[in-house]
Amino acid sequence: MENGNKTIAIAGLGKIALDQHVPAIANTGGFRLAATLSRNSSLEDTPGFSTWETLRTTGPRLDALAICTPPQVRMELAYLALGASLDVLLEKPPAATVAEILALKAAAKRQGRVLFASWHSRHARAVPAATAWLADKKIRKITVTWRENVRQWHPGQSWIWQPGGLGVFDPGINALSILTAILPPPLVAGLHVTTADLEVPENCATPIAARLTLTAPGGLEASADFDFRQTGIQTWSIDIETDSGHLALQAGGADLLLDGQPQANDPNRGSEYEELYRHFARLVQSRRSDVDISPLVLVADAFLLGRQIPTEAFHD
Ligand code: NAP
Repeated sequence: MENGNKTIAIAGLGKIALDQHVPAIANTGGFRLAATLSRNSSLEDTPGFSTWETLRTTGPRLDALAICTPPQVRMELAYLALGASLDVLLEKPPAATVAEILALKAAAKRQGRVLFASWHSRHARAVPAATAWLADKKIRKITVTWRENVRQWHPGQSWIWQPGGLGVFDPGINALSILTAILPPPLVAGLHVTTADLEVPENCATPIAARLTLTAPGGLEASADFDFRQTGIQTWSIDIETDSGHLALQAGGADLLLDGQPQANDPNRGSEYEELYRHFARLVQSRRSDVDISPLVLVADAFLLGRQIPTEAFHD
């Protein structure tokens, strides 16, 4: 790929950076990993820095920064990076608040930098086929079920339970990122939350489970069930009833079923994160930003409208 000479650093060398970003950068060839920025962690073969100042003053020349920290500390770093003339990839959610990401979008525009508010689930392998199939359908009913075991997927991540950490919306926003990608754009433009029940453990600031209803002008019945307490089989599915059949996206967007029939996937697609980095490389090459805040707006509205239901304390 033509950006192969572009250098990138990863900030926040935690679970997702190590599991996905490091291998995806190595496998896609759009960028060369030149440094890491992390207080407590580094890679054997890559220069590591524990503060932004040392990275900037003593580190290698950089073209881009991928920010994989928790959302609460993302904005400040992104702002510094844009100010230092770097293109920036933000892990999801792009910021802790709507105002933060709008400020970053404006800063990127002012500085002439590329800002990519990434939504990795949008790059899951069946998402493009689902989008194409829904394009000419009338949508009647949407059911989102996103239930996973927080102890399995987020062990020891105390930031999830603190203000700005989103709680169960940390995975739930992935479902909403898929939904806002696959529905026809006029429907997405009108999609909004109508009710939200938020179950919040008595020792946490963020919900462990959430049930939403949503609608859109013209009448749409939609619901979302997010739960962090699911043991056994994990469920990441979106079911959509249309005027001409039923669509089911399963396994977090990896598998598509139409009227119950599994559909073949494009064998040429890479992993979610490989596709995500290919997209970032194209954005950098064409000097375009990609900042869609619609999933974050739905989550923010769930917090605005949410009815808090206290529930038993959560201990990791
Ligand atoms: P994580 O394992 O906790 O890693 C985040 C890293 O950020 C930490 O290891 C830490 O490294 C650094 N950091 C900087 N400031 C921090 C602070 N104030 N508190 C805690 N850590 C801080 O989290 P993660 O699972 O990789 O998630 C990071 C982001 O990626 C989240 O926004 C999440 O939604 C997203 N994401 C996660 C997954 C997943 O499966 N885990 C999947 C997709 C996206 P140092 O201590 O070395 O600085």
